[in-house]
Amino acid sequence: MSKHLNLAILPGDGIGPEITQQAVRVLERLAAQGHFSLTLEQAPVGGAGYRASGHPLPEATLRLAKSADAILFGAVGDFTLDSLARELRPEQAILGLRKELQLFANLRPAIIYPELAGASTLKPEVVSGLDIMIIRELTGDIYFGQPRGIRVLENGEREGFDTMVYRESEIVRIGRLAFEAARKRDRRVCSVDKANVLETTQLWRDVMTNLGKEYPDVALSHMYVDNAAMQLLKDPKQFDVLVTGNMFGDILSDEASMLTGSIGMLPSASLDANNKGLYEPIHGSAPDIAGKNLANPLATILSAAMLLRYSCGLSQAADQIELAVRKTLSSGIATPDIYREGCRRAGTVEMGDAVIAALA
Ligand code: NAD
Repeated sequence: MSKHLNLAILPGDGIGPEITQQAVRVLERLAAQGHFSLTLEQAPVGGAGYRASGHPLPEATLRLAKSADAILFGAVGDFTLDSLARELRPEQAILGLRKELQLFANLRPAIIYPELAGASTLKPEVVSGLDIMIIRELTGDIYFGQPRGIRVLENGEREGFDTMVYRESEIVRIGRLAFEAARKRDRRVCSVDKANVLETTQLWRDVMTNLGKEYPDVALSHMYVDNAAMQLLKDPKQFDVLVTGNMFGDILSDEASMLTGSIGMLPSASLDANNKGLYEPIHGSAPDIAGKNLANPLATILSAAMLLRYSCGLSQAADQIELAVRKTLSSGIATPDIYREGCRRAGTVEMGDAVIAALA
């Protein structure tokens, strides 16, 4: 009997509904092919959540997210709600979900598809064949450490301060995930820190080094974050899995995503300790193109592939989606963001159609 999946679908704002709809069609096609059976439940989040019930993460949406096997998320963000108090803004939904579901690990693959090597701002020979996985710790570090604040000194000058802090257990948790991920790839982990300056990251390096002894089949290296930022531009293909803390990961994962030159292509996963996860494209709600059938749905479709692989243990079905995306790209059909000379222009729906046809 095939596995049954209970999935929460949170389309969100802007292009969110259009792109998640295409990913849902892909999942439904795989279900029809007998890979799994499917219950999908949809709920409003972000600006849509606020409009529906006065909060970007309505209680019913959170309940659904908690009870589901995994969550497929579109994007949130609505400029017309920017004047709301910070805690009611659409983007707060993502932070709320990360916290409530204890999603401590963010996985962002950066892959260059052969057809899109020219889309990167780097030379094709530097990026072609690129396939790296950035793993960012998501719930600790200077973003959450206490104390923090802005205080007034005796001389009347204001001083801002934050606390960078990591517990050993938090480092081990993300480290294990990185080593396990590397075992399914090229068996190399590069741990990024600033151990020459920061005590917190000296501990990070020590813990990673110890943990590495449990994974003798994975080659562990260490790199300072400033060098890592440079190496990502100079020779990105040297990396396989790159693991780092919340702040460094925030910056490096955005830098790495731009190596591929196409924001509409990149999926992501945020996982808890049991591999339950929230899967979403790395881009936002793109209000400039919302509702126009212009958005590239591939990042969301690839997020659905990650969902099957990491939260449902369905690697074969995930492979099938990724292969269908490759076939779609090489067939020469393209949404405007990845349009190259000689391509046939497609909208969001036509791109979804092409992936579904390629699944056959
Ligand atoms: P954005 O990622 O929405 O858009 C940046 C640019 O990329 C735009 O020109 C947009 O048209 C284009 N783009 C994005 N996704 C695309 C796709 N799938 N296909 C084709 N083109 C695509 O970033 P922004 O414009 O700075 O932010 C818009 C809103 O999204 C804001 O409210 C922001 O806070 C929010 N946001 C949300 C998330 C999230 O939900 N995780 C992430 C980033 C930004």
